[in-house]
Amino acid sequence: MKVRTFVCNMLHENCYVIYDEASHEAAIIDPGMYWAEEQRKLAQYVSDNGLKVKYLLCTHLHFDHIFGTTFVEDEYGVRLSASLDDSAWVTGFAQHIARFGIQPNTQPRPVGHPLHDGDTLTLGTEELRCLATPGHSAGGMCYYAPESGLLFSGDTLFQGSIGRTDFADGNYAQLIGSIRTQLLTLPPTTIVYPGHGDPTTIGDEAQYNPYV
Ligand SMILES: [Zn+2]
Repeated sequence: MKVRTFVCNMLHENCYVIYDEASHEAAIIDPGMYWAEEQRKLAQYVSDNGLKVKYLLCTHLHFDHIFGTTFVEDEYGVRLSASLDDSAWVTGFAQHIARFGIQPNTQPRPVGHPLHDGDTLTLGTEELRCLATPGHSAGGMCYYAPESGLLFSGDTLFQGSIGRTDFADGNYAQLIGSIRTQLLTLPPTTIVYPGHGDPTTIGDEAQYNPYV
């Protein structure tokens, strides 16, 4: 599986484009593209590599992860796949960004394809497993590619840190539980691609992350 990172918007959110090199089937994870220039760069990468965008996945629906969902839906004819438990973050998008003093660039559409813990998606012959990890938000979801040993952890687990839990549907105990049962049980060599900041591994976080 090939991974390309696009750092997006004023909150430096990581959007990932992943694809299976044999079939060129691709998933776009957390499209946080806010500005037109960011959208152009993503589209350029997709066309340069001849990718067939099969999925639009979100690890959760906080505004910095969904600025570009409408763009991806319209450009590639896919629907947003995520947990329905984060739906309130889509309906409340305009109010949430106003609170942060951010101008709306879009009105995101609701989840079109609800995902649940244990659901399996495929890119070519590669599997992508959905792991529910509530805590940072109610509908937190991580995506794990066992064959390649990759995890897309959203804002659940960062290098040396964990997601904040001070929003209305955040829950600290739940977040720690999600990380311990769903993530730290993965092979230590698993590469973790978080929603912000640099990649890490499950082994390093199990050993050095002071929060888990
Ligand atoms: Zn978040």
